[in-house]
Amino acid sequence: MDYFDFRSDTVTKPTEAMWKAMSEAKVGDDVYQEDPTVNQLEKLSAEKLGKEAGLFVPSGTMGNLIAVLTHCGRGDEVIMGTKAHTFLFEAGGISALGGVHPHTIPNNDDGTLILNDIKAAIRSVDDHFPLSKLIILENTQNRCGGAPLTPSYTQSVKSIAKQHGLNLHLDGARVFNAAVAQNVDVKSLTDLVDSVTFCLSKGLCAPVGSVLCGAEEFIRKARRIRKQLGGGMRQAGVIAAAGIVALETMIDRLADDHENAKILAKNLSENDKLRIDMNSPKTNMVYVSLAPEVKESAREIEAKLRKSGVFVGVVAERQFRLVTHYWINERAIEACVKQFGNVLNP
Ligand SMILES: *Cc1c(COP(=O)(O)O)cnc(C)c1O
Repeated sequence: MDYFDFRSDTVTKPTEAMWKAMSEAKVGDDVYQEDPTVNQLEKLSAEKLGKEAGLFVPSGTMGNLIAVLTHCGRGDEVIMGTKAHTFLFEAGGISALGGVHPHTIPNNDDGTLILNDIKAAIRSVDDHFPLSKLIILENTQNRCGGAPLTPSYTQSVKSIAKQHGLNLHLDGARVFNAAVAQNVDVKSLTDLVDSVTFCLSKGLCAPVGSVLCGAEEFIRKARRIRKQLGGGMRQAGVIAAAGIVALETMIDRLADDHENAKILAKNLSENDKLRIDMNSPKTNMVYVSLAPEVKESAREIEAKLRKSGVFVGVVAERQFRLVTHYWINERAIEACVKQFGNVLNP
């Protein structure tokens, strides 16, 4: 049976061009920094983001963890949103493995943190307090409907960080979606930050991997921490090759995913049993809730949709997340809207 998978853009499989590049990749031992394909991917990533150097890592979670462990020591504090991926979905790694203390402040619906909240969260020097070392922003902000942060907002946060001697890390898992949605060069979102991670394995369709970028010296330290965490991958050029294809050919087309998300949201909004949340879509995500009169839970609806070949994410008791990506076309959107209709308005 055909199925259409809206759960996430992480479900994207490699394209034909990626399979070809992977099968032909020149490889070496990347722990010796001798894999030419990994080296090329790291260089290309750094250039695109306006950074000195890059480090290929197995996942976005490991990229963020390495960044935090490079910026912070045990007992140091990192400021981030209550909806930050690093706070919610990275298994508490910064605390479990780094002894780093998260200090969370609320996210606005548009993904931003209130500048005065950030300032207030920065500790004065006192033996009672952890040492504030790092601020993390997320762009796009996943749990705020995939909201993109602007260059000027990033600049404002960087100014605060700089004024207080803190570093700024960007969890840019979908930073290319943010750039494409705002029609700006991605550098305008990344050149100011001290470090940035982005995912190759989401909307960009590569099978595995993220890249952490920053200054030469930062990446040198980060490389050592990647080794400590067991993230040194030897002939990783096999997967890095797909990452190069992703960066060279898959960025501009993210605009199609954003357009498809708009169409999907518009058509779903015509179903009176559904409510579109957080003014989504802002990029490639549609957050949608069940209307109050629907008796069943999102989980129950999801199970029915699944039987008809439409897979959706359940993110709360009565809320779904639907993500558009390379493998979601017009036919998939039609099927999704139709099956929601069949299940909710039988
Ligand atoms: C997906 C994601 C990550 C990293 O996830 P992995 O599954 O570990 O690659 C980090 N931050 C955000 C905002 C994400 O959406």
